[in-house]
Amino acid sequence: MTSPPFRECPLCKAPRYGVVILFGGEPSYQRRCLACGYDDVCEFPALSKSIVYVDQFLISNVAKLLDPESRAVERVRQEPFWTTVYKKLTRLVRLHAVSCPQSLFHDEESLLSGDPSFDSLETVYEHFSGGVRFKDSETILSLQAQLAFARLLDPAKFGERRIERQDVLTGNHNAWLGHLRVKVQIPRSQTDIQELRRLRHGGAMTLNAIFREWQSRSESYADTQTFEARSFGPSMIKLTREYYQQVQGSMVFAAPPPAAVLVNTLRSVAERAGVPGETALVRVVDFLRSGGFCDLPRVELSSHLYASMARKAASGQKRLPSSGFSTDVVALSTLLPFCDAMFVDNEIAGFFSEEPLKSVASKFGAKLFSLRTKGEFLEYLDDLERRIEADVLSTIADVYPPGWLDAPAGLIVAARQRRVRDSK
Ligand SMILES: [Zn+2]
Repeated sequence: MTSPPFRECPLCKAPRYGVVILFGGEPSYQRRCLACGYDDVCEFPALSKSIVYVDQFLISNVAKLLDPESRAVERVRQEPFWTTVYKKLTRLVRLHAVSCPQSLFHDEESLLSGDPSFDSLETVYEHFSGGVRFKDSETILSLQAQLAFARLLDPAKFGERRIERQDVLTGNHNAWLGHLRVKVQIPRSQTDIQELRRLRHGGAMTLNAIFREWQSRSESYADTQTFEARSFGPSMIKLTREYYQQVQGSMVFAAPPPAAVLVNTLRSVAERAGVPGETALVRVVDFLRSGGFCDLPRVELSSHLYASMARKAASGQKRLPSSGFSTDVVALSTLLPFCDAMFVDNEIAGFFSEEPLKSVASKFGAKLFSLRTKGEFLEYLDDLERRIEADVLSTIADVYPPGWLDAPAGLIVAARQRRVRDSK
C-alpha cells in the first residue's frame, strides 16, 4: 500500500512516487514509484516531543463538541475555546511536537460517564495519544520507591540513576506516527463498571467524612501535610499485613493488593543489594516509615494536595470535594513529574498556584493550565509549534497526505460507524 503525497519519480518521471504506508514507530520510511517500482529509503529525524497531559475535563468537552448524540453538543459549540483547543492539539500531535499520553484515569473516568458515552471519550483520548499510555499509578509509585530504596542501600551504584519518561510510558512517545491507527478494543464487563462505581462511591464517602473532620479540627497546613505523607508508607504495611492474615486464614486465593506487591518488590531490591533474607523485610518496613519514602514525588505531591484541600475546609469552605477529587490527586501526583505541561480543572490548578505547593511542584518544571488560563495554554502550544526543527517540518510535508494537520470534524461519527461495521 502506498500513500500520498505523490511526487515525480526520479527514475521514470511519472508523478506516482508515493510513501509506503506507515504503521507508526518505524525508524525510516520508504518511497516507491507505482509506475516503475523504483524505491528509496529515508531515515526519520529524531524527535523530542513535549509531553502534555490533558485531563478528563478537556477530553470530555472535546467529545461533547464532536458527538452529535451528546446532550451538551450545542452548548459546547458556543464556546470557541473547545474547537480551538481540539484543532491546535491535533495539529501539534501531528506535527510531532506534542505527545498526549492516555492513562488509566481516562479509562476509569470515561467508564463512569453517561454522556458523552465511553466510546466517544475513548475515541478522543486515543486520537490525542496515538496509543501512547502512562503506566498505572501503582507501577509508577513502585518505580520511584525501588529507586529511592536502591539508592539508600547502594548509593555508589544507584546515586545517579533517574526514572526516565520512557520508563513510565508504554509505547514510544517520540515515535513517528503511522498513516493509519490500528485500534485494540479492550472489552469491558458491566461487573467491572459496577465495581468501579462502588469503589468510587466508597472513596468519595470516606473523603467527605475526612473533609468534615478537617472543617472542625482546623489543623495547620504543615501538620496535615506531614500526617498525610507519614501515613502513606505505614498504610502499605498495614494493607500487606491484612492481606497475608487473610490468605493464612482461608483457602481462597485472592490476587495480592498493590501494597503487598510493592512490599515484595522492595524486598527483592534489598536482597539484590546483598541484605540477608531474614533482615530484608525489616529494612523494607523501615524504609516505608522513613522520610525517604515521604520524599517520593508521588507521596510528597499527594500529601500537599490533601493539605491544600484541608486548608480550604479549615478556612470555611462548605462545598464538599468533587467525587473525582481523589482520582485527580492520584493522577496529578503520579504524572506531574513526567509532563512538560498539564491541562487540569480550575480547583486543582488553584492549589498549585498557592504556596507551599507552588514551590514544591516547581522543581519538576511542569506548567499547569486550566480554563482560567486558557489563553496562556493556547499561547504555550503556539510557542511549541514555533520551536519545531526545519528537518522535522520538511519530513512531515514529505510523508503525510494533504490535510494531515487538520482536525477531523467527524472523528467520533466515523469511529461510531466503524464500530457498527466491525460488529456485523
Ligand atoms: Zn518511476
